[in-house]
Amino acid sequence: MSSLSLIRVKIYKTVARQLHGVVPCWVCGGHVAFADATLEHIQPQSEGGSGHQDNLAISHDACNHQRHAKAPVV
Ligand SMILES: [Zn+2]
Repeated sequence: MSSLSLIRVKIYKTVARQLHGVVPCWVCGGHVAFADATLEHIQPQSEGGSGHQDNLAISHDACNHQRHAKAPVV
């Protein structure tokens, strides 16, 4: 297990405890099940964002990919 995975678990559990079991997606705002949870860099690493916990947020796996895929607007 990578250190990022450990941070993901830590952040997920922290948010779930603070919000009584609800972990909102940083991208769409919906609840994220742990199985779907990925870590999103609030400020992209390509723009100098750090890998520190303060720059990381939980999002859906699908939302995370959508945000980076630059899919054409339908
Ligand atoms: Zn989402």
